[in-house]
Amino acid sequence: MRAAEPSDVVGCEACDLSTGRVHPPGGRIFETSAWLVEHCVGPMGLGALIVKPRRHVTHVAELSDDEADELGPLLKRASKIAGDLVGAEQVYNCLWSHAGGRPVHLHYVVQPVTDDQMTRHGSHGPLLQVAMFVNDEPPPADVVERIADRARALFREPPTAP
Ligand SMILES: [Zn+2]
Repeated sequence: MRAAEPSDVVGCEACDLSTGRVHPPGGRIFETSAWLVEHCVGPMGLGALIVKPRRHVTHVAELSDDEADELGPLLKRASKIAGDLVGAEQVYNCLWSHAGGRPVHLHYVVQPVTDDQMTRHGSHGPLLQVAMFVNDEPPPADVVERIADRARALFREPPTAP
């Protein structure tokens, strides 16, 4: 068994963004007692949300029971909101959290995928994600700020039944 990791790691991108050492694009969008939601840094498209634990955790298997209990409902809600933000055809939920082949602060990428993106890149699924990373075109900061504001407003509304 690995030694327990500290709950905040300076130099961990996720922790640095969570604690304000680095400002996330669009700011914090939503929070629960154990989880934070921000707009994705990088080229995964407009409306792509990051869902990550407040605590520095690098393996899903090491989430506390409380963290695990909050996760399902939050991913469901974040997926609905991310999809509504851009009129997505599908919303991917991915967790790779493996930087340079090493486990890093786990974070789900809740990625809304539109018909336009699939047409533009000629692919879907993991190949679409690869194409987006190769193109490396993060959305402009001012556009991310606006969509983060819309996401915050949607999270303030009571969750709706499916
Ligand atoms: Zn961290």
